[in-house]
Amino acid sequence: MCMLSSIALYAEEGGINNTVKDKLKEYVDNKDVKSLVFVRYTGGSEAEVSLYKKDKDGFNSDFNCHAYIGKNGIGKEKEGDSKTPLGDFGIIQAFGIKANPGTTIEYLNINKNHYCCDEDCQYYNKIIDAEAVNHKCKGEHIIDYVPQYNYGFFIDYNKEGVYPKGSAIFFHVKGKRPYTAGCIAVKEEDMISILKEIDANTRVIIYGDKNAGVFPPGVK
Ligand SMILES: [Zn+2]
Repeated sequence: MCMLSSIALYAEEGGINNTVKDKLKEYVDNKDVKSLVFVRYTGGSEAEVSLYKKDKDGFNSDFNCHAYIGKNGIGKEKEGDSKTPLGDFGIIQAFGIKANPGTTIEYLNINKNHYCCDEDCQYYNKIIDAEAVNHKCKGEHIIDYVPQYNYGFFIDYNKEGVYPKGSAIFFHVKGKRPYTAGCIAVKEEDMISILKEIDANTRVIIYGDKNAGVFPPGVK
């Protein structure tokens, strides 16, 4: 269920939690960053996505929707733990089996040769054309995941490609299951809306809400 609203920065005093407030403040004077995507963990394998866009008066709440995240919640540490990473991330690229729905982010049209590599090699945590680089990849064969990879974008968690810190952390379209292997999954129509609103400098902030009592122990 998505809602459009327009809440001026700090207008909802007390209603916006500290992570959101801190990040809005951190980026309000940053000329490159014009939008922020917040992913607030709400427990289990679920989260709320809130998109804020900047105008001359500061950030405004633009869009909200529900998301599924990793089967085992948040706090990713290693490949295969089915957790979604916590943190403040950039965007590497957008991609999809379907054509670019109107994003300005570099968009990779997926073909049968595209994989996201999850092996201990130079391609770890990268989307590659396996034929072009002559690598027999055992990672995710992207085109097989419909509707999940109809549209997606790649966030820069473990952008250094350190094995086995985790790979293939995407925003993508929800599949049949009410969880992911660590990605953030939203309805297809929401994915299209988000892709149209964000750009290559958007920050994606994934956090737990202490007030909701769902912040995992040991995670600051
Ligand atoms: Zn591979």
